[in-house]
Amino acid sequence: MKPIIGITTDVTKEDKLFVNSEYVEAVLRAGGLPFIIPVGIEGDVQQVADSLDGLLLTGGNDINPILFNEEPHTHLGEVTPSRDACELPLARYMLTTEKPILGICRGVQILNVAAGGTVYQDLHKQNEEQMLQHAQKAPRSHPSHFVQLEKGSVLEAIAGSERIQVNSFHHQSVKDVAPAFKVTAVASDGIIEAVEGTGEQFVVGVQWHPELLATKADAVSLGLFERFIGACK
Ligand code: MN
Repeated sequence: MKPIIGITTDVTKEDKLFVNSEYVEAVLRAGGLPFIIPVGIEGDVQQVADSLDGLLLTGGNDINPILFNEEPHTHLGEVTPSRDACELPLARYMLTTEKPILGICRGVQILNVAAGGTVYQDLHKQNEEQMLQHAQKAPRSHPSHFVQLEKGSVLEAIAGSERIQVNSFHHQSVKDVAPAFKVTAVASDGIIEAVEGTGEQFVVGVQWHPELLATKADAVSLGLFERFIGACK
C-alpha cells in the first residue's frame, strides 16, 4: 500500500481550486499516492488528518499577518483567507500526530505560524540590509542562490553536503522560528530557508520549491520527497 499524501490546494481570485502538477508528480515519483485537499474542510481536520499518512503544504499567496498578531504591512501581497482557515488548523492537528509533514514555500510559513512562529510580511522592506534576489527571474527549475545546511539535519543528510543551490520565489520568509522547530537552512543574507522539527516526527519546511527540481531529476530534491514519503507509514 502506498502512503496517502494530502496535498493542499491553492485558490484563485475567481475561487477556483488548483494545484500545480509538479507537487503531484513529485509525490508520485517518490512512491506516494497524492490526494488533493480542498479548502473548506476546516471543520473536519481531524477526520481528514486521520485519513492521511502524510501532509504536503504547498506554495501560494501570502500569510495573513492577523494570524500572528500583526497588522498588514504596506508591502504585504495578496492573502488567501480560505486557505489560511483550512491549512492552519490542519497543520496544527497534524503536528499533534506522528505523521510526516513537508511544507514548501508558503507551506513552511504556515507551518511555522501554526506552531507559534511569525513570518516577514515582506523580507525586503522589513530588513535594513540589501537582500538576495529571492524572487528569481531565472526559469522556475533553475537553482539560483545557495543555502547553508545545518550539520546533522535531515536536509544535510539527504544532500550529503552543507551547501546546496536552490530556486527561490518568495518575498515572505520565516522570521521568529516556532519553539518546536530549529533552523536547518539559511541563505547568505541570513534569510531562513528551512526549518525542521526537533522531535521524532518528520517535519521539514523549505522556502524553495523542490517539486520543480525533483521533476527535473535533481537528486537532492527528489531525495527530500523520497525521505518524506518513506517516513509515512
Ligand atoms: Mn530564497
